[in-house]
Amino acid sequence: MITDPPIAVDYHCHLDLYPNFEKEFSHCTSAKVATLAVTTTPKAWPRNKELGDKSPHVRVALGLHPQLIAERAGELGLFERYFTETRFIGEVGLDASPRYYSTFGEQKRLFERVLQLCADAGDKILSIHSVRAAREVLNCVELLFAKSSSRAVLHWFTGAPADAKRAADLGCFFSVNEQMLAKPSARRIIEAIPPNQILTETDGPFVQSKGHPVKPGQVNGAIEALSKILNYSLSQTQKLILKNLAELEQHA
Ligand code: MN
Repeated sequence: MITDPPIAVDYHCHLDLYPNFEKEFSHCTSAKVATLAVTTTPKAWPRNKELGDKSPHVRVALGLHPQLIAERAGELGLFERYFTETRFIGEVGLDASPRYYSTFGEQKRLFERVLQLCADAGDKILSIHSVRAAREVLNCVELLFAKSSSRAVLHWFTGAPADAKRAADLGCFFSVNEQMLAKPSARRIIEAIPPNQILTETDGPFVQSKGHPVKPGQVNGAIEALSKILNYSLSQTQKLILKNLAELEQHA
């Protein structure tokens, strides 16, 4: 199959959380948005994969969201069963915010298991959540990914600039969204990492753009904000992100 090259990148979007998610798959395909459709539970995998298989632009990631560990920890077996069907893993990670802290130990156990599987398999690409847990996530990545050809993409990273630099030195990429970039702290994160390790995302439908949930592939706000911080033109920024995507997905 000959595929038109993508014109934009949305490397973390919950297509299956939109009311008509089949339509969103078609939209990303016709708009030529290189999309990483993350999932939150292994149960969502088969249907997402079926739709993703039909799209030259949507990659589907197998996930086990840290905020759902209380109810979904039992799905690790299912995760392991589907694991070989995909190169893309997410949303996975750690969340130490007060609401989820009671499961932090269990989250860590499952996240380490997922990282170990990816490290052993090699050539996987992960979209990682790290709310209030940047250091713990980086400790795990450092320990388990040092010798692996799998790559970590930190989604909506909110750690300190020093943590961002440490992550970049470990080879992590960062997917950034419009809402994240609207905060003054985002500039310090962007300035702490090399431009060639940045991707765009929407994190739809969770991110708001001008008072509405962002649409899949709607990364223009993120591109605009990034271009200001980097002092690049819009088209330079778009090209940078597409080049970074190609670099990330290159097989080791
Ligand atoms: Mn998400």
